[in-house]
Amino acid sequence: MNKLNELTIAEASKKLAAGEITAVQLAQACLDEIAKRNPELNAYLEVFDDVLEQAKKADERRAAGESHPLLGIPLAVKDNILIQGRVASAASKMLEQYVATYDATVIKKLKEAGAVFLGRTNMDEFAMGGSNENSAFGPAKNPHDESRVTGGSSGGSAAAVAAHLCLGALGSDTGGSVREPSSFCGVVGFKPTYGAVSRSGLMAMGSSLDQVGPITKTLEDAEILFDTIRGKDPLDSTSVDPEDLKSQTSNNKRIGVPRHLFKEGIDQDVLERFEASLKKLEGQGYELVDITLPSSPLALALYYIIMPAEASSNLARFDGVRYGLSLKGSSLIEDYAKTRGEGFGPEVRRRIMLGTYVLSAGYYDAYYGKAIAARALLRKEYNDALKTLACIATPTVPSPAFALGEKSDPLAMYLADIFTVSANLTGNPAVSVPMGTVERGGKALPAGLQLTAAHGDEAALFVVGKALE
Ligand code: GLN
Repeated sequence: MNKLNELTIAEASKKLAAGEITAVQLAQACLDEIAKRNPELNAYLEVFDDVLEQAKKADERRAAGESHPLLGIPLAVKDNILIQGRVASAASKMLEQYVATYDATVIKKLKEAGAVFLGRTNMDEFAMGGSNENSAFGPAKNPHDESRVTGGSSGGSAAAVAAHLCLGALGSDTGGSVREPSSFCGVVGFKPTYGAVSRSGLMAMGSSLDQVGPITKTLEDAEILFDTIRGKDPLDSTSVDPEDLKSQTSNNKRIGVPRHLFKEGIDQDVLERFEASLKKLEGQGYELVDITLPSSPLALALYYIIMPAEASSNLARFDGVRYGLSLKGSSLIEDYAKTRGEGFGPEVRRRIMLGTYVLSAGYYDAYYGKAIAARALLRKEYNDALKTLACIATPTVPSPAFALGEKSDPLAMYLADIFTVSANLTGNPAVSVPMGTVERGGKALPAGLQLTAAHGDEAALFVVGKALE
């Protein structure tokens, strides 16, 4: 039998229900593996001191007759999702000591289900980055090759799932932060339709882009987590009732492939894995259709205007008065400058400046206004294409995990987001599914295939994704 920490959520859930194992044993197996591997991987920033107590409570609830697929399942939580009474630092010096005063809605729902929280996971500071190297507390490392990045920004969560330091995890995805590290670490990363999951208690980066999403070992597990955390929430006015999200259901076997996007900058081995996976789908009766998404080549530029604009506004609240770090200067203005200058790392400051610039009088129309208009166009193109397709398929990232320190130029780093940002701009659900490995320096590095479906048609992602697994 697998070690308990190596079980999937679905497998562990069955064993718990059958009384073959206890939540305490399951949690202990994860804690043992964390003790062994986390010092090197740096996937968790903190392991909670009450894990076994939580697990014991779950066992008691089960003994009293409760049941839920997540009752007693040990999970990891990205450090930008609030758990009442716990530090939530967003991997920033700014919030190093900040203790959350309430539960995020997703946490409330998981607590009701009886999940066990192992700890909070490493990430790029305030979810800004694609490698986890922007963490103020050192990067997480890729379990497949520790000299390489996990991807980001939910790198700690992806590494924790891949190395079996938990059974599943939550991440957040603003431009690919659930899918990209999942691709690099060889696990499933799922971004729901915008509004399907409440953002209450998720620290805002780009409010029109952000979604909480599961990172898991299988699609079945992602589905279990999604079913538990989804739903309309009075605390998030952008959240939507699942009934209202019911799509046009693309109940067909047509997969759109925008090959015009694969012209340059894509690793040949990744492309080969991608083509092989498409063949596998064809073998299962899927039809591949060449599609064109004319505005898609603009997506990266749009994202890097809209996201910093929203982030610069969202991060204005960290002023040394209301939350976290507070440094004193000789005037109020100096207090702000000192706190923000020392509390935020370089990437966060870069994005605040960029965002402030594109929103400033004189440049607003030239940048932000145009980006918003082009975003509407992109959304329409996706909606139109998906009317007759089950999904759109691309690689998740153009390359396998790169080496730590390799991409010191921020623009080179941004290019890794080329395939993932579209789903955030359009609000469509998307998932990264492992599509095998490519070899680099004698190591097998995972790569992911991304599927994007119509709004509310998560079901299509799970069906096609399982066909690939
Ligand atoms: N890598 C992207 C960025 O740096 C995505 C971040 C995210 O999804 N939070 O913005």
